[in-house]
Amino acid sequence: MTAAAMTATPAAEFRAAGTDLSERRRSGVSTGPLIDISPAPDTIGMHWGDDGSLRIGAFTTIAAIAADACLAAAYPGIAASAQGLATPQIRHLATLGGNLAQRSRCWYFRSPHIACLKKGGTECPARSGNHLYHVAFDLGPCVAPHPSTMAATLLAYDARITTDRRSSLAIGDLLGDGTDGRADNALQPGEMIRSIELGVPLPGERALYKRAISRSHAEWPLVEICARAVIKDGAFQFVRLAAGGIAPVPLRLTAAEAALQGKPTKLSTIAVAAERATSGAKPLPMTGYKLDLLKGVAQDLLERLAE
Ligand SMILES: Cc1cc2nc3c(=O)[nH]c(=O)nc-3n(C[C@H](O)[C@H](O)[C@H](O)COP(=O)(O)OP(=O)(O)OC[C@H]3O[C@@H](n4cnc5c(N)ncnc54)[C@H](O)[C@@H]3O)c2cc1C
Repeated sequence: MTAAAMTATPAAEFRAAGTDLSERRRSGVSTGPLIDISPAPDTIGMHWGDDGSLRIGAFTTIAAIAADACLAAAYPGIAASAQGLATPQIRHLATLGGNLAQRSRCWYFRSPHIACLKKGGTECPARSGNHLYHVAFDLGPCVAPHPSTMAATLLAYDARITTDRRSSLAIGDLLGDGTDGRADNALQPGEMIRSIELGVPLPGERALYKRAISRSHAEWPLVEICARAVIKDGAFQFVRLAAGGIAPVPLRLTAAEAALQGKPTKLSTIAVAAERATSGAKPLPMTGYKLDLLKGVAQDLLERLAE
């Protein structure tokens, strides 16, 4: 099947490594036609610009991103996220494009017997059902959190995305704002991610990634944050905090960022910022616990960045 034909067949899906797709095929949730996609020289690997910027091909595996020493030096938050994700076996196969475009982990969505909003249903069954692992920022009709770790981290890095139809799309525009409960991203049917672009690292910037998880590994996080900072003369000159696991899309924690901008790296300042990480939260009856996790992860990362 060609990409043009997929446009006319919305249920058709690309298959990269298939680590997400295969499970949905087996359970009968994904039933449309498949198009196998494979890398071309410009859609795999790291392509460094003369200025120190980086373009990562969408077919690059998570393991390759996790193991690249130059990438880890320039973008440590991205390397750390890739190293902490899934299992070694999954990382070895899974592609960056597939990670960004993977579908929701909600158990109602993954059940072939339940029609949720993402499968043409009229309501989100998790909202009135079991939503223990779901959003704490209730932004739209679907309450499943966005599943992509790399999307949250790339948001902290203001990454841009090139598809076969659009160039230099802000990652936030690819992900949408979470108000369309029917989709996991704003890709059009048949639109393929080709690469991810990262700007030149800021002088002196540091970055860390941390997740809170319900078991030691091989699980999506309950809460995850990638934090970047430039600290100069004992003050936060630049801060970016982006979180996953808490909302239908990864979120910038802008109130916490604002509480740190230009401020000294004192524990009291960090404590205020960590408290503000939950600004705008609207937890569901079962997800209030995620706010404490969010504050704790933010506080820990900021204290370590300030050390
Ligand atoms: C035990 C376990 C734990 C996991 N933990 C995490 C975790 O903590 N964080 C996390 O982020 N993920 C986690 N994952 C998910 C894993 O990272 C994804 O399954 C993987 O990244 C998907 O990549 P893939 O290449 O296999 O995509 P595929 O399965 O091939 O595709 C996934 C989806 O993306 C679409 N797609 C693929 N490539 C493109 C492209 N280039 N352009 C447009 N659409 C595309 C496909 O059509 C499909 O709908 C976990 C998985 C397992 C099994």
